[in-house]
Amino acid sequence: CGIVGYVGKRNSQDILLEGLKKLEYRGYDSAGVAVYTQDGLQIKKSKGRLAVLESKLGDAPLRGTIGIGHTRWATHGKPSDVNSHPHTDNSHKFSVVHNGIIENYMTLKEELIAKGHVFVSETDTEVISHLIASLYEGDIVKAVQKAVSQMKGAFALGVLTEYEPDKLVAVRLQSPLIIGVGDGENFIGSDIPAILEYTRNVYILNDGEMAALTKDGVELMTLEGNFISRELFHVDWDI
Ligand code: GLU
Repeated sequence: CGIVGYVGKRNSQDILLEGLKKLEYRGYDSAGVAVYTQDGLQIKKSKGRLAVLESKLGDAPLRGTIGIGHTRWATHGKPSDVNSHPHTDNSHKFSVVHNGIIENYMTLKEELIAKGHVFVSETDTEVISHLIASLYEGDIVKAVQKAVSQMKGAFALGVLTEYEPDKLVAVRLQSPLIIGVGDGENFIGSDIPAILEYTRNVYILNDGEMAALTKDGVELMTLEGNFISRELFHVDWDI
């Protein structure tokens, strides 16, 4: 159970894979990445070790400078390719990685199914991507805020949409998440080691906070959308 995310100037795939390797100690049963490429948002994921994902990507690398990655510790739905993260919605315009549990996912899922959404996995997480898609009105930060206000449980999220391909959204509620601040590139991670190779400047998110990242900046805010100013934390230790 780990999350990484990258937005910047470099190819994201390798940065995501390296970050996920640093989070392997947390345990996992599957892994995956989503990258915004020339062909739109592309997802590659599989049950098993990171090496399985790496060999899939080795055959067909995803090229793009923004992406999210995940290692899964299954809580809802068995370990399988389909249940692995990232998850998407029926339009395939949104993608979500999630650590934690959505307690009211069944209620939300039934409501979304009634509106015509078709689910492909058994996870609680897939509800989040459909919910965000259903609430999207041109501003991914607002859509995530609305979605989160309907969700009960514990979660850290990384969210991308093809409609705003320069922006990465991160959310923390009772599941760890940090932001790494680089030069023309920014990162998210479940833990500092995931990003320490690239930057030592970090914002620690508190519960109930979120962030919007572009390659040039990071905005921190509460889940209600109030902006927060915070000192950067400088990491002076090594792994
Ligand atoms: N509850 C989610 C799932 O089972 C996320 C698990 C995790 O934290 O990795 O897919």
